[in-house]
Amino acid sequence: MSAEQSNFYDVVVIGGGVVGCAVLRELSRFRLKILLLEREADLAEGISKANSGVIHAGFNVPPGTLKAEMNVKGLFDIYELAQQLSVPHKKTGKLVVALDDDGKERLIALKAQGEKNSTPDLEIIGQERIKALEPLAAGKWALWSPHTGIISPYQFTVALAECAWQNGASVRLESPVTSISTNGHGFTLQIPDAEIKTRWVVNSAGLFSDIVASLAGIDGYRIFPYRGEYLITDKDDELNLRLPIYPVPPKDGPGLGVHITPTMEHNILLGPSADAIDDKRDTASTRRIMTQLKREAYDLMPELRKLSFIHSYAGIRPKLVDPAGNIKFKDFVIEESAAKPGWINLIGIESPGLTAAPAIAKRIVQMIGAKEDLSEKSDFNPGRPELPRFAELDDQQRTRLVAENPDWGEMVCRCETVTRAEVAHAIDNPLNVHALDAIKRRSRCGMGRCQGGFCTPRIVEILRQKGYSDIELTKRGGQSRLFYGKIKE
Ligand SMILES: Cc1cc2nc3c(=O)[nH]c(=O)nc-3n(C[C@H](O)[C@H](O)[C@H](O)COP(=O)(O)OP(=O)(O)OC[C@H]3O[C@@H](n4cnc5c(N)ncnc54)[C@H](O)[C@@H]3O)c2cc1C
Repeated sequence: MSAEQSNFYDVVVIGGGVVGCAVLRELSRFRLKILLLEREADLAEGISKANSGVIHAGFNVPPGTLKAEMNVKGLFDIYELAQQLSVPHKKTGKLVVALDDDGKERLIALKAQGEKNSTPDLEIIGQERIKALEPLAAGKWALWSPHTGIISPYQFTVALAECAWQNGASVRLESPVTSISTNGHGFTLQIPDAEIKTRWVVNSAGLFSDIVASLAGIDGYRIFPYRGEYLITDKDDELNLRLPIYPVPPKDGPGLGVHITPTMEHNILLGPSADAIDDKRDTASTRRIMTQLKREAYDLMPELRKLSFIHSYAGIRPKLVDPAGNIKFKDFVIEESAAKPGWINLIGIESPGLTAAPAIAKRIVQMIGAKEDLSEKSDFNPGRPELPRFAELDDQQRTRLVAENPDWGEMVCRCETVTRAEVAHAIDNPLNVHALDAIKRRSRCGMGRCQGGFCTPRIVEILRQKGYSDIELTKRGGQSRLFYGKIKE
């Protein structure tokens, strides 16, 4: 095959967040030559790594919108998909609590909105039921949503891409699309080391989807970034939060209000705030917001005061509504460009985009399938190989693994109980990503109390033993090198 032929695809997806990766996996069911291009050194480096990780049930979005349709369809798909891909997730249920009688009317309105959207089994409950469901929650009244859940958003994103890869899709990391041309029969995308030709493009570039669209000559979209800051607590065996607790959402506000969410790893998230910012990459954590998060979260769960915080982070919402507040609501944009047939825009995919991703992916396949015959592969594999998590095994299972391979007996991360075998598996990932953050996200090393103080030198040592030289070792690819030279030879 010539270089020209090898760089010709049926569909190219731009952007390796949860939405792009879900689209890639859904397309990998069919006999298509497909490629995902991601600017960063790993998947889920954008919005998809920094959110609440809540599987929304669909009552927060206005009826009749794409947001509502994709949310509720996605709710039914995401649990099955997470199961197939062995991604940590749990159907926890969720409480939206009103601290006094004033909030009850808003809860009733939310329930009615959810029912119009076909969100199943919503109930308004009083204090007794609240305490039975979650003893740590404050609140006089609550909207109880039993089908809400939690998921590890970056592990889900990586799993979707690895499944697609296993089914024949290609993934190119550190490949920003810098220019685009079209000749009426397809598109030519420029990345730093190649020219890629394709019949279809799915623009799933998150915060930068407006810019990618304009590279293709499609103007008129503008994404406004809104930052959401979070705090993470240390684990505490005595304070075991079972489910997310949300406040009554602010009317016409840009977010759902500061909520408290358990993670799959038994930490608790507080946040997010919601502030319009100028720079789409500004993920700073600020002292002012940290104070505000604690104040608001303590109202929902007074016992939270007992916990200490180990980390903060921020995610950026890709909003289509302008900060002046002239327009209160904008729906997801999921459409093929009329002016550029073959170009599909996914723009303004803010919350509930994580939950909606599987449904959006199916919609993209329908759109392409409406224009050409898609032939399904008979050997599509919907899952991916599973590796046990040492932290979750009982003593008998642990002993058996250590007897098979002593690497299961060497602890690399003490806070999260991650062994050398798990780190080695993370380094040997199919997409050949070996940046430190990527290994940490895949193995959970460095996510605990010491935030990498103990495990980072050990991960570096394993990387060296696997043949990586010091100049190849980065935190997140590009220029983020871990080493610049030796002090002592
Ligand atoms: C604070 C916050 C909380 C949220 N909470 C929830 C929640 O609890 N539940 C829920 O369902 N949803 C939630 N969401 C929404 C959800 O996180 C997003 O809708 C989803 O992650 C968007 O995924 P994406 O793939 O569209 O974008 P991204 O994850 O940002 O992916 C886009 C990718 O495109 C890449 N890219 C950009 N430009 C280029 C280029 N030129 N060439 C190549 N690649 C490029 C970027 O590097 C990035 O990796 C939340 C969002 C935020 C901000």
